[in-house]
Amino acid sequence: MVERTEAGAELQRHLQQLGEQFAERLKQELPQLADKAQQLLLACTPAEQEQHLNSLRDQLHRLAGTAGTFGFARLGERARELELQAEQCLASLQQKQQGLHSFIDNLQQLTSQQYQAEPASNSPPAVPRNGRADREEQWIYILEDEACVGENMRLTLSNFGYHAEHFATIEALDAAIGQRLPDALIVDVNLEGTQQTGLTYAAALQRRLDAPLPLLVISTQDDFATHLEAVRVGATGFFTKPVDIPQLENRLERCFAQQQGEPYRVLIIDDDHELASRYSLVLRAANMLVEMSQDPADIFQRMREFNPEVVLLDVNMPGCTGPELAQIIRFNDDWLRVPIIYLSAETDIARQMNALMMAGDDFVTKPLSDNALVTTVFARAQRARLLSNALSRDSLTGLLKHADIKEQVAIELERARRSGNRASVVMLDIDHFKKVNDNYGHTAGDNVIRALANLLRQRLRRIDSLGRYGGEEFLAVLPDCSTAQAQRILDEIRERFAGLRFIAEGVEFTVTLSAGIACTDLDSSAGELLERADRALYAAKNGGRNQVRQAE
Ligand code: GH3
Ligand code: MG
Ligand code: MG
Repeated sequence: MVERTEAGAELQRHLQQLGEQFAERLKQELPQLADKAQQLLLACTPAEQEQHLNSLRDQLHRLAGTAGTFGFARLGERARELELQAEQCLASLQQKQQGLHSFIDNLQQLTSQQYQAEPASNSPPAVPRNGRADREEQWIYILEDEACVGENMRLTLSNFGYHAEHFATIEALDAAIGQRLPDALIVDVNLEGTQQTGLTYAAALQRRLDAPLPLLVISTQDDFATHLEAVRVGATGFFTKPVDIPQLENRLERCFAQQQGEPYRVLIIDDDHELASRYSLVLRAANMLVEMSQDPADIFQRMREFNPEVVLLDVNMPGCTGPELAQIIRFNDDWLRVPIIYLSAETDIARQMNALMMAGDDFVTKPLSDNALVTTVFARAQRARLLSNALSRDSLTGLLKHADIKEQVAIELERARRSGNRASVVMLDIDHFKKVNDNYGHTAGDNVIRALANLLRQRLRRIDSLGRYGGEEFLAVLPDCSTAQAQRILDEIRERFAGLRFIAEGVEFTVTLSAGIACTDLDSSAGELLERADRALYAAKNGGRNQVRQAE
C-alpha cells in the first residue's frame, strides 16, 4: 500500500534535489575520469599504469553504486562493466598483455556522453504502519464456542486492562465487527455445529479489510497443517488449548508495542554524502530516525549517544574499510545486538562473503531501490528490537529488570540535577501476596503481577520509567513530577488495582498494593533516594496497607 501524502510529495522534492546535486557532481566526475584516462594513455611504465588503473577502478566502483540509485541506471551499468574491465587490465599488466587501449577507448566513450536521470521506476516506499491503536482502549474480540473458556479469557483480558468481548458464534462476532473493528482478534479454529472454522472466517474478514487485523489463533490441534493455515491468514500467534492466557496476553502486548513503538534508530556511515543523504531521506520518510556520518572515527561517540538499532555501513571508505569498522563495533559487547548491514557496490560474491566472515550480518548491493532499502532496514530493526527487549526486559511483565531500572534512577537523578526540575521515585509492593499464591496458586499470582504491570504501563506517562524490582515489587521513576503529583497518580492506580476482579478456579478475589514516594533533592544519591522510598513503603505497610505514603 503506497501512501501518497504531502510528506510523500515533500520526499519526492528532496529526492529530486539530491538527484540534481548528483547530476552536478557528474559534471565534475566525468571529466575527471576522462583526465585519468588520458594520464593512463600517457603513462610510460607499468608501475604508473598500475597506479592510474587502481585509481580509475576505485572511482568507477563508486560511480557504479551511486549512479543507479539516483536514476542513472545505464551509466551505473556501464561504470560496472568498465570497473571489471579495469580489474582485468590490472591482472593482465603483470602478464604484459594488452587490453588497455580498448579499456581507454571505452572509458572515453563513457565520459563523452550526456546523461540524464531516467524516471525512477520504484514508487515511493510504502510506509510501514506505526501507531494505530490508542494505548488507552484496546478492543479485543474473542471467538470461542465453549462459553466458559471464552468467558474466562474475556475476564482475564479485562483484568489486564483490555476491553475484551466474547462471542460464541461467527454471526455474533460478525455483527459486532460490523459495528466496530477491534484492535485485535482471537479465534478458535474448531467451532461446534458449523461447517465454517474460525480460520476460514478470519481469512474472509482479512480480505475485506484494508489493513490486516492482528490475529491470534487458538486450537485443539497442534498439527503442521493448522499452523500453516494460521500463518496464511496472517496470524501472529498460535496457542493450543488449554491456553496459557498470560502468554497469550504477552503476545497481544507485543503486537501492540510493534504497532505503536518508537521509530527505529538507524546510523548510516558512508563517505558519499549525497548517497547517504538519499538513504537517510528515504528511511526518514518511512518513519525512522536517521543519523549520518562520513567519518568512521566518529563511531564510538555515535554508538554511545545515538544508540542506533541498525548500522548501515559502506564497504569502501578511505582510511578504514567497512569490514574493519564492523570489527571495531564488534569489539564492544554492548553493541552485539545491533545488526550491521553493508551497503556496497561490491558484486563479487567471494568478496561479500569475506566481508561477512569478518563481521557484519547482511549485504545489500547498490544500486538499491528505495523499497528494498526500507524493507531490509525495517526487518532487521524489528528483529533487533524484539531480541533486545527479550534480553533486557523481565519475561513475566515486559518491564525493565532490576539492574536496568536502578540505572534509570541514577540517570533521572542526574537529569533532574541539571534541569533543576524534580523527579519522584516510587516503590510499590503487592499486599499479602504470599496469601494469593497460597490460596489461589502460583499461576493466579503471576496473573496478578502481570495485571499490575499492565495497569502501571497504561497509567504512567511515556517518559516515566518502570521496572520490576523484585518478585512482587515494582520501581517507577517519574521525571518532572512533584511528590504531590506522584501521590495523586499513585492513589488513582492503587484504587484501580484494588477494583480489579481476579478469577482462579471459579473463585473471585481482589488484591491491594502499598507504595512509598521519595522526591529528588540537591544532595541525595540514588541509593539514598531508593532507601527513602523504601522506608515510606514500609510505613504504608505498617499503616495498614492499601495506601501510598511520602518519604519524611
Ligand atoms: P506484604 O504485604 O508485607 O508485602 O506481604 P507479602 O506476602 O506480599 O510479602 P512477602 O515479601 O513476604 O512475599 C512475597 C511473595 O511473593 C513471596 C514469593 O513467593 C512471591 N513471589 C515472588 N515472585 C513471584 C512470582 O514471580 N510469581 C508468583 N506467583 N509469586 C512470586
Ligand atoms: Mg508484598
Ligand atoms: Mg515483597
